[in-house]
Order: sequence, then structure tokens, then C-alpha cells
Amino acid sequence: EVTVVGSLNMDIRLTVDRIPRSGETISAAGLKRSPGGKGANQAVAAARLGRRVAMVGAVGDDDAGRAITTRLLAEGLDVASVAISEQPTGTAVILWEQPESTIVIEAGANGDVDEQFVDSRDAAVRAVADAQVVLCQCETPLGALAAVTRLATGTTILNPAPAVPVPTEIRDRFDVLVPNRFELATLAGANEAPGSLADVVAMVRGLAFPGDVVVTLGADGSVVVPRDGLPTPVPAVRVDAIDTTAAGDSFCAALADGLLRGEDLVGAARWAARVAAVTTTRDGAIESLPLADEVPAAPQD
Ligand code: ADP
Repeated sequence: EVTVVGSLNMDIRLTVDRIPRSGETISAAGLKRSPGGKGANQAVAAARLGRRVAMVGAVGDDDAGRAITTRLLAEGLDVASVAISEQPTGTAVILWEQPESTIVIEAGANGDVDEQFVDSRDAAVRAVADAQVVLCQCETPLGALAAVTRLATGTTILNPAPAVPVPTEIRDRFDVLVPNRFELATLAGANEAPGSLADVVAMVRGLAFPGDVVVTLGADGSVVVPRDGLPTPVPAVRVDAIDTTAAGDSFCAALADGLLRGEDLVGAARWAARVAAVTTTRDGAIESLPLADEVPAAPQD
């Protein structure tokens, strides 16, 4: 029911008490290796919420690639469209200075996932065409996004992360856009991220995006800006956040899940806020994503 077209990385997270200066060597206080990448995070997030999920992506013919595929299988994902590339598995080196990360990514095999990659694989074409919701990000070549919007028959959601200026003709073919405020500024060609809610809404309107937009605002929650109608702010759920890694990924997957439950976009964003809040209370990326029954009920439930 959900197909994710996106990145698969091996995350190598080094815990540091500060970011080293250029030319400097420092010691890490801890090392953690785990499968990650926005594609994998969003796919696992949706599966843990109870969705049937197919992953379209690529890994290398190496230990990291095998570890990722094994993990996706263990999470119940359909990996028929996870290709084995000639390139090494994508790698993210994360310097984690709690609660913020500084990240360097080597795309590796993720670089294969372009328009032709999707078009030339029957399983990938079917996974995209048959899905009720297709979730995409920008850690794979933008051509994959063009293929998705051409093939999809369900709802298409684009999380334009990391911040890249997605060409308007690709962007505008998605049904729902879910940027954070920095990604929104990049899409809008603005030099600075919008501050107030009014600034955020004005920047969204400036995109003239034909679909609906949900802008995530970290601890300030999100704002739903429908294609027609008034914007609705959705508050964050108050929690003691210890690690906001994958909060955005968890939000996007839960938004898809909410829409599949028949919620409207505001209802889905409220559910997504609850799911993402749990993610921020746990350490790590994939390991922090909650099962549906681990998400506390909303006060009004
Ligand atoms: P990204 O990680 O992509 O920048 P955000 O930081 O905007 O995304 O977070 C996505 C969502 O996660 C927010 O809309 C909010 O609902 C939730 N969230 C993020 N940080 C917190 C926090 N400190 N407390 C509660 N919820 C949070």
C-alpha cells in the first residue's frame, strides 16, 4: 500500500563533544553503525505503523548492503526492488554532538536510482503504480521523482530533503509537499528560512504549488497549507526530546499512514506529530521509530 523510492545508507555515527576544526583530529566518545538514509527511515517508519511497504532503492554488493537488506526484510518490507549496484553502499558519517548532527554523505549506490532505474525494473514500476501512497525524498537523483509522478496512480508525497532546489516541473507533479522551513526556503529560492508562521505561509503561497503543503517546524509543530483553504497550524506534542534524528522521516511516514486511515491532511498531520514526538524521545534513527501501539493516545481520543 505504501512504496518508498529513496536512499539506503549505512550510518556511521560518532559521538563527539564538539565538531573538530579543519585539520584537527579528535577522539569520539562512541560509535554506532546502523542502517539509515531517509528512504530506509521512512519505509521502516511506515512498516512499524502497520503498513505494507515496498522499497525501491539500491545498495552495494558489500557487507553494509547485506546488513541493510537483512534489516529491511526483518522489518517486513518488500525488497524486490532493492537492486544490488556496482557502486558501494551509500555511507553517512555522522558527527553527533547531542542533540544536533553534522553529516557527510557519500551517495554510492543511491546514485543509481534515477529515472531509467525505476522505468527499467518491472517490480519497481509495479510497486510505484500500485501503491496508494508513494513517498519520495531527495537523497537519490531527481530523475527518480519524475518517473514516480509519471507512474503513480495513488497519492504522491515529496519530502524535499536534504534541501535541494527541485525543478518546478518535477515538484509540481506531486500531490503533497512536506518540507521543513530550510527546505521550503531552498525551494522558494530565498536566502533565509522564514521565521514567523505568517512568513512560512507567505513563502508557501509564493511557490504557487498546485497541491497541498505541510511545513514541519521542529518543536513548533507544523502548518498545513491546503491548495485551497486556510492554513491550519498543528502543534507539536510536548515531550522531552533527546534526539530529533529521523523526526522528519517519521512525520512523513505517519502522514502517509494517516491519509491511508482516511484522515484528511490536518488529521494526518496531528497523527504525524504524535508519532514524530515519540521518535524524538528515543536515541538513534531507525531504532527510534515507534510501532503504532507505542504512540500515546491523543487527549481527545
Ligand atoms: P526535520 O527533522 O525534517 O527538520 P522537523 O525538525 O521539523 O523535521 O520535525 C518534524 C516533526 O517532528 C515536527 O513537525 C514535530 O511534529 C516533530 N518534532 C520535531 N522536534 C520535536 C520536539 N523537540 N518535540 C516534539 N516534537 C518534535
